[in-house]
Amino acid sequence: MLRDPALELARCAMHGVAFVETIVDPADDGFGTFEALPGWLMEASADLRAMVAAEGAGEGAGGEERRALPPLPAVRIAAGVHPHNAKDLTDDLVAALGERLRDRRVSAVGEIGLDYHYDLSPRPVQREAFRAQIRLAKAAGLPVVLHMREAHDDGFAILAEEGFPEAGTLLHCFNLDGAEASRWVEAGCYIAFGGPLTFKRAEEVREAARIVPVNRLLTETDAPYMTPEPLRGTLCGPAHVVWTAAVLCEVLGADTPEARATLLAQLYANAEALLDRAPTPWQKEPSHA
Ligand SMILES: [Zn+2]
Repeated sequence: MLRDPALELARCAMHGVAFVETIVDPADDGFGTFEALPGWLMEASADLRAMVAAEGAGEGAGGEERRALPPLPAVRIAAGVHPHNAKDLTDDLVAALGERLRDRRVSAVGEIGLDYHYDLSPRPVQREAFRAQIRLAKAAGLPVVLHMREAHDDGFAILAEEGFPEAGTLLHCFNLDGAEASRWVEAGCYIAFGGPLTFKRAEEVREAARIVPVNRLLTETDAPYMTPEPLRGTLCGPAHVVWTAAVLCEVLGADTPEARATLLAQLYANAEALLDRAPTPWQKEPSHA
């Protein structure tokens, strides 16, 4: 959870970030984001007016040159129990999550997956929670957002067994090499690059980005974590995605304003195609709760 979500959304608007996918883990922070989101957006527009006014105050004496307010980003929700919290995933919570997926602002189930680095839940429990949520995502017709850490072989095998969701699979915060990226790409997955793409000693991550087809590429922040260069050491916000996107343009050789604009438009179209889709049949059904 971000410290001041409204302010972060206003900053996104100032930087031209038009789409934000926020993560909700019901085992960790409940479903509070669903209720809070409209309030954050109202607050964000007030913050945005103040930012634009402050920017305008420096220009000219009369301040007559009023800048139009940039649009606030569209916010969609990925809801899912993170592998860290797999031990807390009960049948009741799966049912409650299923009901929340009917909210049309939800566009994915995630972050779900496996984390064998921290092992905060026993591995067999992580695998069961992962399977249960893949099945739920498929029933709901939604994509999955994957958190995989030092567990890619098991994660890939489980998805291959269950079947990759037709609505799509996003491998989040990719920080490995091209060899690892390629099997996920071949399985039709989207690969999202965050701060690690910009880290100085991460040449293999930049190489991985080059092998991902341009219509499968996404950028992200993983805010409040993984702040990109040159701002490492500060708290990350969703607006920081502009730094990662800039590096991605460099890595892919988009070095003219036109080439950059084309690539950025493609990234935005990819995010829209995967995460801003029309309501699924599951979401059009009335809630059974
Ligand atoms: Zn993650």
